[in-house]
Amino acid sequence: MTPNTIELFRQRLLAQREDLRRNLEAHGDELREAHATADIAGGDRAAEWDDAEVESRVVESEELLLAKVDHALDRIERGTYGLCEGCGDNIPAARLEAKPSVSLCVDCQEVKEAG
Ligand SMILES: [Zn+2]
Repeated sequence: MTPNTIELFRQRLLAQREDLRRNLEAHGDELREAHATADIAGGDRAAEWDDAEVESRVVESEELLLAKVDHALDRIERGTYGLCEGCGDNIPAARLEAKPSVSLCVDCQEVKEAG
């Protein structure tokens, strides 16, 4: 991968990290509100708790993605970006294009997901 290509991915990852941080801040507020509303309702309002549940899951998956983006940026710093963390092969550019935060090739990802 050329330094130019890596720089492009770095820019995309930085932008994605900014987005995620903003989203997480916004969700954090909504989450506090949802919990506050549910508290006031005294637990009768199951729907309010459901909202809080859904919100929690969104925040969780965004935090997970943020960690992956951070990790990818770290790999750029260390010069290992684009290499599969499972087998050490190059991750195909098309896969990185689709998802710049991936750290495994398709094969290793499948192995990981299969447990
Ligand atoms: Zn691999």
